[in-house]
Amino acid sequence: MDFSLTDEQRLFQEAVRSFCDRELKPYAAQVDETGRLRMEAIAKMPDLGLVGLQVPEAYGGADFDSISAALAMIELGRACGSTGLSIEAHNELCCLPIVRWGTDEQKARFLPRLTSGEVLGSIALTEPDAGSDLMGTQTRATRDGDEWVINGSKAWITNASLAPVIVTLTRTDPGADTHGFSMILVETDRAGLTIAPPEKKMGTRASPAHVLTFNDVRVPRENLLGQEGRGLQQTLATLDSGRIAVGALCVGLAQAALETALHYAQERRAFGQRLADHQAIQFKLADAATQLEAARLLVLRAAWSKDRGENYTKLASMAKLFASEAVERIAFEALQIHGGYGYSREFPLERIYRDQRIMSIGEGTSEINRIVIARRLLDEHAPPV
Ligand SMILES: Cc1cc2nc3c(=O)[nH]c(=O)nc-3n(C[C@H](O)[C@H](O)[C@H](O)COP(=O)(O)OP(=O)(O)OC[C@H]3O[C@@H](n4cnc5c(N)ncnc54)[C@H](O)[C@@H]3O)c2cc1C
Repeated sequence: MDFSLTDEQRLFQEAVRSFCDRELKPYAAQVDETGRLRMEAIAKMPDLGLVGLQVPEAYGGADFDSISAALAMIELGRACGSTGLSIEAHNELCCLPIVRWGTDEQKARFLPRLTSGEVLGSIALTEPDAGSDLMGTQTRATRDGDEWVINGSKAWITNASLAPVIVTLTRTDPGADTHGFSMILVETDRAGLTIAPPEKKMGTRASPAHVLTFNDVRVPRENLLGQEGRGLQQTLATLDSGRIAVGALCVGLAQAALETALHYAQERRAFGQRLADHQAIQFKLADAATQLEAARLLVLRAAWSKDRGENYTKLASMAKLFASEAVERIAFEALQIHGGYGYSREFPLERIYRDQRIMSIGEGTSEINRIVIARRLLDEHAPPV
């Protein structure tokens, strides 16, 4: 067993950290306050491969392994939750499905633009009446000659207003149960597609999330992504990979919270000594560091398993579940260590605390991830028949 990073992975990690410390972290409060991503920073991301982490070089990406991709997400999460979330959705939920299931023509048409740093990609799964329960998807795509005609609505679609194309889950055969869904690539300039103003959110406030309305939106037949009828299976596979990335964002957010608390505990004094000299505070720091390390190991273990071509569904759900619940506890205690100042917008903890809250909801809630893990466990340990 070897826990060390390769030289390439370590150098990449250092380069991303230095970029994030320069281009994202100093602006994180402003980005949160204004509700706008810093697009000039995103424009510089292609130099490091951050907007094409696992896209082949031929299409402008960096073709990194999954551990490197997770390391990048950790650094982004540590610097700015809003930017981290939007870059995660872009890479994992839009670029990767196109890489995995796109035809050569679709890859050539969409990926170079998506890796340019000028735009961000998007995926539309959730609907006003169907989130966790993807089988409840109602957005309908019907064939009309050489076109798909799409009708319905989607909710909470991250990056839609910044995207040239949205990977859209549609129902193509209402009678076909789990094989009645298909992924269709919908360009955002298609007539009939309306993108509502961004939702007003508790955290990750600059990562825009929108309601979409499809009113007889027509796209060519060639915009089908992968096989007709396989959309649900493609979605579940996409979420497996995305969960590693969300877990990594959580590790980054938790690291930022712990670093801030460690600094504050050694500056602030109470009852004649530093906060850090009170054993109750030391215990909080110790618990946070332990949970952070466990989350990091689980995330990197899932990424490692993905790189080895193993089935990593259970590990990805475990990584996302554990890391998203760990960051909640770590952010809570880090804020507690700050006392009243933790509640102030003058300190980063208040933002980190709000930003982390989405992580146990998006890309499979904690409850859904527990269901995924339990199902796998029970399958693995089914009594012989
Ligand atoms: C900031 C943000 C960004 C997002 N970005 C995107 C995006 O880019 N694309 C996209 O498609 N979606 C996106 N989403 C939507 C997100 O994926 C959903 O909110 C999430 O999947 C949960 O769905 P829901 O909100 O409909 O909750 P519901 O599915 O209605 O669930 C409500 C509660 O019931 C629980 N629950 C549901 N079913 C079960 C069950 N069987 N057993 C036990 N408990 C259950 C859930 O865990 C949850 O606690 C985003 C959401 C947010 C808030």
